[in-house]
Amino acid sequence: MSLKKRSNNGLKSICCYCGVGCGVVINKEKNGSITLEGDKDYPVNKGMLCSKGMNLHYTVNDKTDRLLYPQMRYSKNMPMQRVSWDTALERTAAVFKTFIYKYGPDSVAFYASGQCLTEEYYVVNKLIKGFIGSNNIDTNSRLCMSSAVAAYKIALGEDTVPLCYDDIELADCFYVTGANPAWCHPILWRRVEAHKAANPHVKLIVVDPRVTDTCGIADLHLQLNPGTDITLNHAIGRVLIENGDIDVDFITNHADGFEQYSKVVFERSVAQSAGICGVSEQDIRLAAKYIGEAKGFITMWTMGLNQSAIGVNKNLSLINLNLITGHIGKPGSGPLSLTGQPNAMGGREVGGLANLLPAHRNLANATHRAEVQKFWGGTEIAAKPGLTATEMFEALNDGRLKAIWIMCTNPLTSLPNVRLAEEALKKAKFVVVQEISNKPETLAYADVILPAAAWAEKEGTMTNSERRISYLNKVLDPPGEAIADSEIICRFAQKMGYKGFDFKSPSEIYAEHARLTAKTNIDISGLSYDIIKQQGSVQWPYKKRNAVIGTPRLFTDKKFYTYNGNALISAVPDTLTSEAPNDDFPFILTTGRIRDQWHTMSKTGKVNKLNQHIKQSFMEINPSDAAALHVQEGDVTIITSRRGEVRVKAKISPEIKQGVVFMPMHWGKILNNDMHRVNNVTNDMVDPISKEPDFKYCAVSVQKYKKP
Ligand code: SF4
Repeated sequence: MSLKKRSNNGLKSICCYCGVGCGVVINKEKNGSITLEGDKDYPVNKGMLCSKGMNLHYTVNDKTDRLLYPQMRYSKNMPMQRVSWDTALERTAAVFKTFIYKYGPDSVAFYASGQCLTEEYYVVNKLIKGFIGSNNIDTNSRLCMSSAVAAYKIALGEDTVPLCYDDIELADCFYVTGANPAWCHPILWRRVEAHKAANPHVKLIVVDPRVTDTCGIADLHLQLNPGTDITLNHAIGRVLIENGDIDVDFITNHADGFEQYSKVVFERSVAQSAGICGVSEQDIRLAAKYIGEAKGFITMWTMGLNQSAIGVNKNLSLINLNLITGHIGKPGSGPLSLTGQPNAMGGREVGGLANLLPAHRNLANATHRAEVQKFWGGTEIAAKPGLTATEMFEALNDGRLKAIWIMCTNPLTSLPNVRLAEEALKKAKFVVVQEISNKPETLAYADVILPAAAWAEKEGTMTNSERRISYLNKVLDPPGEAIADSEIICRFAQKMGYKGFDFKSPSEIYAEHARLTAKTNIDISGLSYDIIKQQGSVQWPYKKRNAVIGTPRLFTDKKFYTYNGNALISAVPDTLTSEAPNDDFPFILTTGRIRDQWHTMSKTGKVNKLNQHIKQSFMEINPSDAAALHVQEGDVTIITSRRGEVRVKAKISPEIKQGVVFMPMHWGKILNNDMHRVNNVTNDMVDPISKEPDFKYCAVSVQKYKKP
């Protein structure tokens, strides 16, 4: 098959960091290394790349940290030794079979990543659900997007982003909440900035307890108290209703729930809501005015709403603003959740979460289970949902789970209340780690280490935040004996004795996945690698027979995927269940990202240029709080919660509210010292529906560190 080429023998791919999904062109140099540039033809980024994307090639060129061959130990007190692929996979299969025989299929689990390619997700999901007979597969996307997924399903009847990036240039009001896209989704944000600069009437409302770079071009910054998002959204909804700035035709003919919703939002006066949120009533009314005057209105959000014990309700309260104003299914309008990871959406397309089946089928639906089982031809698919991310580590701790296979993720930095996760891996009977790097802390607990190919060393597809499916070329051979993740899983499945994993290439896996989506809402049954390469990228659905060739915008006919075709306006309760501050733990800790690092730094941390931006972890605190604690800029402080403590330098800034402190999420253990790891402190409480953890709100104390 001919690969689409550009000048300098460039091969096309997609940046593997955030869910914006920028196109890149990779050039292979004579010395075997690669360079890259933004793909000028790619509709998402039109040649632009942010600092992380621009430096992505260094992470592949630097092979000093790469795992090169399989390793294994026969018992916990024996050293790891180099083994062949056959030995590693046969031993793993033998251990898995033993546990499944003795304790049942739910005694094993796979914990994967939103950075896996769609094909990799597909085969591991097929393996555990369709052949092992357990639904114990979850991914780090659970820590990222699951609240938005649940809210989309409730409000629209389907986990789907209804608009596309090109709607940005058609909008005249943006409401950006719980997100700092100027740092975390930079190229998408460049498009908002350029659009606003060219169209001065365009309004930007930013909602965040911190002043971030995203506020730089805002017309209005609502610096709310953490956890008060629902109060604020309800208050804005109330003012929109009072002002008559709602779409009565849409509400009457295409939505349910308005009556209940209006009762809930009128329970408090706007002044009362303003007091709770810590913003002025005038600003709430101004936000509603901007939204009410807009012809195109886009809401954008990410972790600030998702990573919460009330994340689903926060999401629903926001989507309500689009629904009551009828700003959905039309140009320049809609709720646009900004995906954190590059392929969280692809992972959900194949059903790669503990409560999903392929093509967004519902695990709880017996017909759906039977359909998938018939297609795969394996064992009966269990009705019981699998363990979610945090539940897996709880189950290792209490012994329900015996074996865990960790793919392309670093839970010992990224999970909340991470010392519990560390205890869990110590107690696990058997741990498999499938990784590219020898750095992640997880490797210390592994019984088997499987070296995987990195980005640009394997082919496959990913889906970005606007449902855009793109192809990633293989440009380099992986080092040593590393192989593609999909091949590792398929070889293992065959060692387990399962049929249906003899794919000759990722394109065959993709073809099977595409066939399984037929007649579902995300139907891509007409799609193949050839078509994706030919068109450059395609937005789902992409159906075979009815000439739908990619769908940038959904619900243009106002028919939603709910049982009656109407969207649901949810009268969500405004009750905060997060850990409340008290005299012992008087501050609220919130976590987030910095501009030049990605997740747990296993890739970006290798790039000197990126490390120059912010060199070490820190705790941001308001000047009056710092003064009360006698803390000065650069002083080492101890931040303590009910779960643990960290010690980092103070960064004193008026840009954070009083009573709130902020720490970045990226740093893990450094030379066995875990004192920079914010997740020592965070809370593993989760949203009851989405099971997404409450990373953005926990009660802590802050003290100046005094040397003993
Ligand atoms: Fe990569 Fe995201 Fe930056 Fe685009 S915006 S270059 S996808 S990190």
